[in-house]
Amino acid sequence: MTQSIAIIGGGIVGSTAAYYLSEFNKKDDLDITVFDHGVGQATKAAAGIISPWLSKRRNKSWYELAKDGATLLSSIAEKTNMSKDIYNQCGTIITRNKLEDISNLYDLAIERSNDTDTIGEIYKLTPDEVKRHIPIIDSNIPGLLVTGGARIKGDKYTDHLLKIAKNNGVSVVNKEITINEKANVVCDGEEIQFDKIILATGAWTKNVLAELPLEVDVRPQKGQLIELSINHINMSDEDMPVLMPEGESDFIPLGNGRLIVGASHENDKDFDLNPDSDVIDDLLNSATSLLPSLSAENLIRVKIGTRAYTSDFAPFFGEIPGYEKILVGSGLGSSGLTTGPLVGKILAEMATDNLSTDIDKYRKPIENYIKLIK
Ligand SMILES: Cc1cc2nc3c(=O)[nH]c(=O)nc-3n(C[C@H](O)[C@H](O)[C@H](O)COP(=O)(O)OP(=O)(O)OC[C@H]3O[C@@H](n4cnc5c(N)ncnc54)[C@H](O)[C@@H]3O)c2cc1C
Repeated sequence: MTQSIAIIGGGIVGSTAAYYLSEFNKKDDLDITVFDHGVGQATKAAAGIISPWLSKRRNKSWYELAKDGATLLSSIAEKTNMSKDIYNQCGTIITRNKLEDISNLYDLAIERSNDTDTIGEIYKLTPDEVKRHIPIIDSNIPGLLVTGGARIKGDKYTDHLLKIAKNNGVSVVNKEITINEKANVVCDGEEIQFDKIILATGAWTKNVLAELPLEVDVRPQKGQLIELSINHINMSDEDMPVLMPEGESDFIPLGNGRLIVGASHENDKDFDLNPDSDVIDDLLNSATSLLPSLSAENLIRVKIGTRAYTSDFAPFFGEIPGYEKILVGSGLGSSGLTTGPLVGKILAEMATDNLSTDIDKYRKPIENYIKLIK
C-alpha cells in the first residue's frame, strides 16, 4: 500500500528528509510532497560554518547531535557528489588573544578527536601562520586550525538535495500551507490528508500548529549578516579556512571573491526581515577592524533570516504528543546547518518506521518543548 507523506518546510531539515525519503522509496510505495514558501528561511540566510567540536556548550545531547550531524553532512556531500561550491571542508581557524586559551581549546579538540574523525587534524598556529592561511587578516593573534571544519552554502545545499529528490519522484509545491484542527494539511483552501506529516518549519512551527491544542516552545530570532567583495585582494580564496575570532562575528570566505561576516542575534524582532543600519554598521566595523583593506564600498548585500530557538536553546524532534502522525524537528538555533541534516534523516526514518540509531542520546524529552494543553 502506498504511504503518503507531506514535508512542510524546505530548509536544511525538510530538504534532507525529502532526500532520504526519496532514497528509501525503492519500491515506489511512498508518495512524498514538500510544501515550502521559503520566506525568511534560516537555511538560505545562514553563514554556513560547520565546526561544532570546540563548542563549550554543556548540553551533552546537543553536542552528540552536532558532532554526528557534521559527520553525516560530510557523508551526504560525498554520496551526492556535492561540489566544493556547496560544501567545502576548508578548515576553521579559531583565534584567541591569550595563548592559554588556545592551549585549552587544543586540549579540548584532542579529547574530542577521540570520538570523531571528521574533526580532522588539529594544529596550534602562530600569528604568522594564521596570516599565511588568511592573508587578508591584519592582527597578531595566535590560532588553532581544525582541518575538518567546513563551510556550506545553505541555499545551494537545499537546491541540490531537492533536485535529487524530485528526480526520484518527490513533488515540491512552493506554497504556504496551514494545518487545520483535524491535523490535516490545507493548501489553497483544499484539505489534503497525509498518512504522515514531517514539520520542518523552523521558526514558524508554533504558528503552523496554532489550530491544535498544543503548547509550543519555539520563538523567532532574527539573524543578519553582510556579504563583502574581496576581489580587490589578489589571491585565491577557494580553500581559505573560515575564521572564528573572539567575539560575535565570524568570517566565511565563499570561494568566489566574496566574504560573509556575521551573524547577529536579535530576540526582539519577531519575523522582521528588514536590515537594521546599526547592526550592519557593527558588522562592518568588526570586518574592517580585522581586515583593514575593506570598507563599506565592498558591501554587496545583507542577508537576513529567522532562526528558531527554544527556552533552553536546545533543538527538539520527534512525534508530537497526541498527534502521532505528525513528526516535528525545530529549535535548531545558531547551529542548525550542523544539526539539521541528522534531524532530517531521523525524521525520514521515523516516518517510515525505519530508525537506524538510538535517538535518545541526541535529545531531551520532546514534552519539554511541545505538549498537549489538557
Ligand atoms: C544569519 C544566520 C546565520 C546562521 N549561521 C549558521 C552557521 O554558520 N552554522 C550553522 O550550523 N547554523 C547557522 N544558522 C542556523 C541555521 O541556519 C538554522 O538553524 C537552520 O537553517 C534551520 O533549518 P530548518 O530547516 O529548521 O528551518 P528553515 O531553514 O528556516 O526552514 C523552514 C522552512 O519552512 C518554511 N515554512 C514555514 N512555515 C511554512 C508553511 N506554513 N507553509 C510552507 N512552508 C513553511 C519556511 O518558509 C522555510 O523555508 C544561521 C542562521 C541564521 C539566520
